[in-house]
Formats: sequence, structure tokens, C-alpha cells
Amino acid sequence: MINSENIASILNDYDLENLTIGTLGSHSSLNIFKGAKEEGFKTVCICREKDAILYKKFPLADEVITVQSFAEILSEPLQEKLRKLNTILIPHGSFTAYLGTGQLVEGLMVPMFGNRKLLHWEANRNEQADWLSKAGLRLPLTFEKPEDIDRMVIAKMSGAKGGSGYFLVNSPQSFYKQFSLMVGRGLLREGDIDDIHLQEYIIGVNVYPQFFSSIVKNDVELLGIDRRYESAVDGISKIPAREQLEIETNPSYTIVGNLPLALRESLLPEVLRMGDNVHKKAAELAPPGLVGPFCLETVVTEDLKIFAFEISARIVAGSNIGIGTSPYAYLKYGPGMYMGRRIAMEIREARESGALASILI
Ligand code: AMP
Ligand code: AMP
Repeated sequence: MINSENIASILNDYDLENLTIGTLGSHSSLNIFKGAKEEGFKTVCICREKDAILYKKFPLADEVITVQSFAEILSEPLQEKLRKLNTILIPHGSFTAYLGTGQLVEGLMVPMFGNRKLLHWEANRNEQADWLSKAGLRLPLTFEKPEDIDRMVIAKMSGAKGGSGYFLVNSPQSFYKQFSLMVGRGLLREGDIDDIHLQEYIIGVNVYPQFFSSIVKNDVELLGIDRRYESAVDGISKIPAREQLEIETNPSYTIVGNLPLALRESLLPEVLRMGDNVHKKAAELAPPGLVGPFCLETVVTEDLKIFAFEISARIVAGSNIGIGTSPYAYLKYGPGMYMGRRIAMEIREARESGALASILI
């Protein structure tokens, strides 16, 4: 298992003036690579053959290592190669989706940007809810078992699945009926029933603020806000209600893309306090708390209450809307700042102040 001593000894062997920023080729990799290049780093992409076209058309990776599956990043020869390149890995949604947090924490002996101890929170919804409520955030109710459902509930699979296989129900009967339908459509498997998380459905609009917790500057910054574009739920409004009823639609929430959002300004103070408080609580749970990007997933109701239903303790793909610029990154840094670049800037500044070990935990 990797610990601070292992990381320190790996860094000892690194040529710190020749660092390479590396990541798996998917999710937010172009964002990460572009930012790394703009801050003067070399880049390495671990890429599946079928995706190689992306890094040919957008040649942002100095080195492309082709693999059959992302799990190969756990192989010793590949890790050795990454260490030879003086690589710092940037984790994103594909790390947790394709590798599992246990493997990441225990099997990956390459310095990784962020606080690994917080990655497992992403997979464990109960611990996550505990963290967010202790940070003073307003959360939707959760229901232990289908029999407890007494209102509109969203049924979710665990982990970073990007909303696929989610469904809405409003009673125990409708839960079992919809679950069978989802299995029938191949969106879920029978065995998934024990992994489903039942959460009160909050009626409102979704708002996903993207934060950056800087250890170097000792500050939590707001760099962007997006909302999601999901299939088929975002297409359903094009079908008149009568036809919806006739075809018994049961749309899911598969993420297809993200849309930028400028939030009503009077909501920003609360959003900023939420970001600060989540980091403060994280610092108590797993010091030094959040390191680098994190995102709160929220719903804002018609009486302007903000409900937080999830946190991602790493870069989110929604920050891709900010590549080049986003209103909030612009307000803070001027043109040309975005999450991928902010990560690289933190690594550069930590290196300059001899504090690299404090951001690779
Ligand atoms: P991918 O490499 O596109 O398969 O994404 C890896 C994981 O991140 C999957 O679990 C996706 O559902 C999730 N993901 C990818 N893009 C987004 C996005 N724009 N918003 C939220 N989740 C995403
Ligand atoms: P997630 O993958 O958890 O980010 O959620 C995917 C989709 O479900 C997003 O469109 C969210 O807005 C929606 N969603 C998730 N949880 C809730 C909730 N408790 N209330 C309302 N919408 C939700």
C-alpha cells in the first residue's frame, strides 16, 4: 500500500525539473493535458486502442501508451515506465469507474495528485452523506429499504456510473415494478438490487459547482458551474404527455454532456460557503482535506434552497465546459484559466516552493 514514505522515496528519485503529467485517456484527459502543456509540463496518456484517434486529432499527449484495458495501469512494467517519466497522475472519473478505489489506493505506486484517502468516499454513499451533513449542507432524505418509500424517490447505483440505470419511483410497488423493467431492458442486473441507493427526489434544477482546493494558496476557489445533459430524461419533454403515458416511458439519466451555467449571483455566497465547509470537514476526516478539484452535485428548489446530493473528490468531466475559459475562472484569474490548467499550476507552484509532497497524498 502506498503511503507518504513510499511517495517521498519515489519523489526522491524523480527529476523534478522534468515532471510529466499523466492520466488515463478518457473523461477529462484533454482538459488535463492542455492545462499541463500550458504550464510547461510534458504529458503521457494511457490510452485504449479504440480511443487513439482522439489523441491524434488533438495531439496534446507527448507520449501515448496503448493498453487493452485501463486495469493495465496496475501492472508493474507500466508503473515503472511512468515513474521513469517522472509522472504525476491526475485521477478522474475513469480511475474510480474502471479500477476501483481499493486498487487505486493499494496497487498504484505512482505519485497521484490529490488526497487518495478521500477517493473511497466517492464510492460509499453513506460515508459521503455523513461528511456532507457534518459540513452543514442540506441533503435529500435517504431510505433504507424499498418498503420505506413514501414519496418520489430516485433509485441509484453506487459508484461513478454517470447516472446510467437510475430510475424514479414513488412507492414500494413501483420500485419493484420499475426495477424489473430496468433489468428487462438490460440497464441493470438482478444482483444490483442490494447496491441501490434510495434518495428523496428533490424537484428543482441541477447545479454543479466546480471547486479547487489549493494547498499552496490555502484557499477554496470556485472555477466553474455546469449542468448536465442526460439521456433520455432531457429528451422526454419533446414527447407530449399523452404519448409519454401511452409508451410508459421510464427514462434513465445517462450522461451525454454538460452545459455551462452562470448562477444567479445571490446564490453564489451560499455556494462558496458550502465549498469552504466541505473542505474544512474533510480536513478533520482525512488531513489535509480536499487537495485540488472537487465538485458538489446540487439541486436548487423553487424557494432557492440548495440540496447537495453528492460530492466528487477529483476533477469532474463537467469542468470540460471551462476549457479555455469559464466565467468564474475568468473573474479570478483572467483569460485562459480552467480546471486542467489550475491543477498543473498548483503542481508547478508546489514544486517551486518545495511542497510537492503536500499535494500528492
Ligand atoms: P468514460 O471514460 O466516458 O466512460 O467515463 C468514465 C466515468 O465517468 C463513467 O462512469 C462515466 O459515466 C463518468 N462520466 C464521464 N463523463 C461524464 C460527465 N460529463 N459527467 C459525469 N460523469 C461522467
Ligand atoms: P448523479 O449521477 O448522482 O449526479 O445524478 C444523475 C442525475 O440524477 C442528475 O440529473 C441529477 O440531477 C439527478 N438527481 C440525482 N439525485 C437527485 C435527487 N436527490 N433529487 C433530484 N435529482 C437528483
